[in-house]
Amino acid sequence: MMTTTRLSPYLALVRAPNPGPMTLEGTNTWILGDPGLGSVVVVDPGPPIPTHVEAILSASSMGIAAVVLTHRHLDHSEGAAALGARAGCGVRAADPEFRVGPAGLDDGDVLGVPGGSAAVLATPGHTSDSRSLLLTGADGVVRLLTGDMVLGQGTTVITHPDGDLGDYLESLTRLQRLVTERGVAEILPGHGPVVTDPSAWLAYYQDHRRERLDQVRGALADGARTPAEVVARVYADVDRRVWPAAEQSVRSQLDYLELRPEDSGGSDSGHS
Ligand SMILES: [Zn+2]
Repeated sequence: MMTTTRLSPYLALVRAPNPGPMTLEGTNTWILGDPGLGSVVVVDPGPPIPTHVEAILSASSMGIAAVVLTHRHLDHSEGAAALGARAGCGVRAADPEFRVGPAGLDDGDVLGVPGGSAAVLATPGHTSDSRSLLLTGADGVVRLLTGDMVLGQGTTVITHPDGDLGDYLESLTRLQRLVTERGVAEILPGHGPVVTDPSAWLAYYQDHRRERLDQVRGALADGARTPAEVVARVYADVDRRVWPAAEQSVRSQLDYLELRPEDSGGSDSGHS
């Protein structure tokens, strides 16, 4: 089975064989750097499935300089420590519990990769520890790697209580600004396909969150009393297998509305 796709000399995608309602076709493991020039950076190695680990290693012919995690969820992080041990490198993560070695993953850190660089952005919201990477290749193409902050298909969960909708909306705004300022050509998501129209996709994400908030307000006005009752109304058209995740997003939205009573009277706000 062909799991590795090379997008440029310094960028490859190895998709993990863990498909599901929350992981779409599987977790996207990104290999940053030209493996012919030096040791690469592996982002989100995913679960420790032997065929996947072998695919990562064979796409990293001169070795791995570091394993990096966009966030702590197991579908991204579970195989990280074992891969680092096998490759003889550390694991860099925002959450200290997931690190191997001294290096964290702070906003403003820049990771050197052979044939390019990756700047770390704190983009909390899906989780409190979510990070994105702004990649610049030697060919001048700028890409944004987003983990589960932005997916290639569908929309993401605001996990509860770890995530935060207010943070998430600010992170979306930050990414949208970067797309404009830096001419970002593509978004590399944690699941699903590469996004080739980043500005329109981020605008859709912002609109979607505002629409969901309006729907949650509507459900409350209609008499929904519990998060589960809100889910049954607002997510009626969504696959029931994702209802538990939807309930987390609903809880995050209820927290958001509770903290911002001035924002709870319906929304005609744009997304400034
Ligand atoms: Zn994920």
